[in-house]
Amino acid sequence: MTNPTIVAIDGHSSTGKSTVAKRLAKHLKFIYVDSGAMYRAVTLFALKKGCFDDNGLNEVSLINQLDDISIDFKFDNDTQKSQIMLNGENVEDSIRGMEVSQRVSAVAAIPEVREKLVALQREMGKKHSIIMDGRDIGSVVFPDADIKFFMTASAEERARRRYEELKAKGDATSYEEILENVKARDHMDSTRTHSPLVKTDDAILIDNTNLSQDEQFEKMLKMIK
Ligand code: C5P
Repeated sequence: MTNPTIVAIDGHSSTGKSTVAKRLAKHLKFIYVDSGAMYRAVTLFALKKGCFDDNGLNEVSLINQLDDISIDFKFDNDTQKSQIMLNGENVEDSIRGMEVSQRVSAVAAIPEVREKLVALQREMGKKHSIIMDGRDIGSVVFPDADIKFFMTASAEERARRRYEELKAKGDATSYEEILENVKARDHMDSTRTHSPLVKTDDAILIDNTNLSQDEQFEKMLKMIK
């Protein structure tokens, strides 16, 4: 059996990583893994368990409960989409709202959380060829990935896209609030001590501020092939 192929896509928040990763995975018949969804699911768990209060996140309380968290992905044949499951419950929609978005970077900065999720992610790359998107996939999870991309776009363009996406789902969050969240997450993700968001030297930079989704897809597919 040949070794599975690993495609790593890292980059800033809301750069469309998951959109292009899903499309590439479908085309190449690879499995798509949304590592951000895993950090979001842990954040939802922390919210449900009351680990957040007026003082912010109670890290010790969350760390003590990490063994109670089970995360996996299920492929839904009806929607043809992969759905994230938290302790057996489909949380694909509930992890996308602002309540989780505003807290996820604090959860993702905890080394014990990262250790648990990185181990799970490495397991997924053992059996199948995968495309995984996130912040530390090329730098930490799969430093020997077959190909690495680093995606970025202006904060304003990213906030605009996210605003349109949430609006279409009936979410009334304002553009200004989303822009603030995008910038805050960029800052926290890039400056944290543990596995900060960095572009490794061997990653291919894709700035998609002025690229259409089709252009970007074709460009990346050509490079993977
Ligand atoms: O990709 P998405 O924006 O859904 O990720 C949510 C958050 O999860 C990021 O802002 C980041 O704090 C964290 N994350 C991470 N490492 C990853 C993927 C996501 O720290 N590999």
